[in-house]
Amino acid sequence: MQPIQKSVLPVEVSTADVVIIGAGPAGLCCALRLADQGHRVCVIERQAERSIAEPEFDGREIALTHRSVQTLQRIGVWERIAAEDISPLENALVMTGRSPHRLHFDRRNAGAAALGFLVPNQSIRRAAHRQAAENPRIHLLYERPVADVQTAESGASVRLLPHGAVRARLLIAADSRFSDTRRSVGIAADMLDFGKTMLVCRMRHEVPHEQTAWEWFQERGTLALLPLNDRMSSVVITVPAAAARRLLESDPQEFDREVEARFDHRLGAMQLSSSRHIYPLVGAYARRFATQRCVLIGDAAVGMHPVTAHGFNLGLQSVERLAAELARAVATGVDLGALAVLQRYEAAHQRGARPLYLATNALVRLYTDSRPLHTLARTVGLRLAERVLPFKRAIVASLTDGSA
Ligand SMILES: Cc1cc2nc3c(=O)[nH]c(=O)nc-3n(C[C@H](O)[C@H](O)[C@H](O)COP(=O)(O)OP(=O)(O)OC[C@H]3O[C@@H](n4cnc5c(N)ncnc54)[C@H](O)[C@@H]3O)c2cc1C
Repeated sequence: MQPIQKSVLPVEVSTADVVIIGAGPAGLCCALRLADQGHRVCVIERQAERSIAEPEFDGREIALTHRSVQTLQRIGVWERIAAEDISPLENALVMTGRSPHRLHFDRRNAGAAALGFLVPNQSIRRAAHRQAAENPRIHLLYERPVADVQTAESGASVRLLPHGAVRARLLIAADSRFSDTRRSVGIAADMLDFGKTMLVCRMRHEVPHEQTAWEWFQERGTLALLPLNDRMSSVVITVPAAAARRLLESDPQEFDREVEARFDHRLGAMQLSSSRHIYPLVGAYARRFATQRCVLIGDAAVGMHPVTAHGFNLGLQSVERLAAELARAVATGVDLGALAVLQRYEAAHQRGARPLYLATNALVRLYTDSRPLHTLARTVGLRLAERVLPFKRAIVASLTDGSA
């Protein structure tokens, strides 16, 4: 195997097959997947090594589908996640206001052991980093701001600050939904400000969660409960920004009482057991996922509203789709950065991502609009959906990816 080549003078220039900007979960998983195919990969990250190697708790508990777990197993990341960090999700309940009608998803509908698995974002990132750091085909550069990127027919080049550059046959943007790389290569994105902020934290509560997730649409804001191990849940509150900030800054006891009341005391006494984090909700959908010598993956391609928990799952799908096209290119002796190869990836990922993105945005609109017609539509929708077994089976199958 050829190591990544570096020259020292006059400016340090490294060459790799693939250069990835962004060592987030999508960038690292992509590096691992492509390194397994034999490619030499350089990953450029603007944060310090410590923040990537030992990421802090950020409040996100990522609901992973069975298909995502298979991808993580394939690249050796799943085995590096501690068993106590993996919480099985067995049931899910969708409720609206005070309506007695509810939509209930049960793992037994799919005959699976779990609908999916909840894993802290922090644990996924740490595991992916450990795996990548030990892979001799992956070269990680930290705290290296990108001065500019250039793509030409012959290849891509990333100039770094204060000096140096990386040249590769393919550039991959994995630098978040606010991707600078996307802008640098001239790809526009449709940004959608949902006008709400999500507050996330862990809480203990008196009444057991029975491994059931709740999504509860209310006029005051949307609530979600994600069941974790050790009689704890992740609490997700979606409200206007000012209310989120007030909840973030409130005294912990006051916060506990307010969340108990928001959950209508259905979980008994509740107690904050982690730091609280807020995320302004902005969706992003890139107009293109591929251009000359460059593709977008993860949130840089599609940044979803978290309500349907698709974001990282979709990011892993982008990795799998790209890896499949690159493998086909190599097998047929085609340059892996050839535009036709990248456009096939784009077409495949568009087919998978667009319906999910549009359906998620439609759901957000329907469930966060308090006008009477929407309230009625929600109640009727839940009653119908609960009775239409094929509909429920389809949702459960999309979570378990038919792997039951
Ligand atoms: C509250 C919340 C809950 C969520 N729950 C779920 C869930 O249940 N299921 C699910 O599938 N998804 C969920 N998501 C979505 C998921 O967190 C994201 O889809 C995922 O983190 C995207 O990974 P990424 O690597 O594409 O981007 P990011 O995680 O944003 O990482 C981008 C990386 O690029 C680096 N970077 C940025 N700019 C530059 C630059 N110019 N140069 C170099 N490096 C750069 C950053 O430092 C970072 O390391 C949730 C999101 C939120 C906010």
